[in-house]
Amino acid sequence: MKSYRVFIGLGTNVGDRFAYLLKAAGELRSLRESSVVWFSPVYEADPWGKAEQPKFLNAAAEIMTTLSPSELLPELKSIEEKLGRSSHERWGPREIDLDILLYDGLRYSDDLVTVPHVDLEHRRFALVPLREIAPDVVHPINGLTITELAAACADQGRVVKTSFHLL
Ligand code: ADP
Ligand code: MG
Repeated sequence: MKSYRVFIGLGTNVGDRFAYLLKAAGELRSLRESSVVWFSPVYEADPWGKAEQPKFLNAAAEIMTTLSPSELLPELKSIEEKLGRSSHERWGPREIDLDILLYDGLRYSDDLVTVPHVDLEHRRFALVPLREIAPDVVHPINGLTITELAAACADQGRVVKTSFHLL
């Protein structure tokens, strides 16, 4: 079966944020029909969308998977649930958020999932970690690389590299 190159964004801003990232990384490593290629360093980012909430830790992962976008997203949601994601407010605080940022060169949308992620080019906290592991990967809609998108991104939120790295 063909394996696809997929980039996933991880985010958390509730409780022991680093522990949530580590657990999520472990769950991604045991995801069916998939293997983790690598993770970006961990970044700390200002909240986006809703300002009055704690800062986030964000990271990005590259995985190879034979799961389709509509098979992969429920797997990510079940990891979120297993890790105890209790907040579901849009853009609000959350224990863990797992988003499909890019799915190979695919453009796809249904009721559940849209790839590339609709807000990728507007979110510095997603682009900056992603640039570490995918600088030359081209966004299939606008044709720009992640490096170019990060440089052009109007989002002024601070995204600062920490000394932590997921393995
Ligand atoms: P966000 O991640 O945008 O801050 P949520 O995690 O609450 O917000 O996700 C809202 C919905 O976005 C999810 O229920 C999911 O079905 C949908 N969604 C659409 N495309 C994607 C994608 N590429 N990755 C993750 N979720 C997606
Ligand atoms: Mg999400």
